[in-house]
Amino acid sequence: MHCSFCGANDTKVINSRLVADGSQVRRRRACLACGERFSTFETAALILPRLIKSDGSCQLFDEGKLRVGMQRALEKRPVSMQQIEAALVRIKHKLRSSGEREIKSMVVGDLVIGELHKLDEVAYIRFASVYLCFQNLNEFREEINRLSSESIKE
Ligand SMILES: [Zn+2]
Repeated sequence: MHCSFCGANDTKVINSRLVADGSQVRRRRACLACGERFSTFETAALILPRLIKSDGSCQLFDEGKLRVGMQRALEKRPVSMQQIEAALVRIKHKLRSSGEREIKSMVVGDLVIGELHKLDEVAYIRFASVYLCFQNLNEFREEINRLSSESIKE
């Protein structure tokens, strides 16, 4: 968050509270560079944590992108749109309830993988093979073996 007075990037949150029936959060911030204080209002969508990618860059949570990724993995699989939406709601809920401002994008990927695992194993393997970037066929095989031994246990 940039300081609205000097534009510095280093601001800290002094306090946060939900306003407008919980659909917005008001954050009181202080600039570490110039000491000015200001408030920001963020809508519920923005309360979702920002994602930190493995290269350290930052990204806003993008529900649309996540939905497309899941749909792609679930293409031609017997999973309804409602099931996908329900999975997205669970993922967002977990992200919000973490209370973190920033979350490693890996955490989101793991949540998606967990949801796909429950929805459809083929979709799970499709997503995991892209997301986990299997280095070779053996890694992929190991994951499939792990999966099948898990489903035997269930
Ligand atoms: Zn400032």
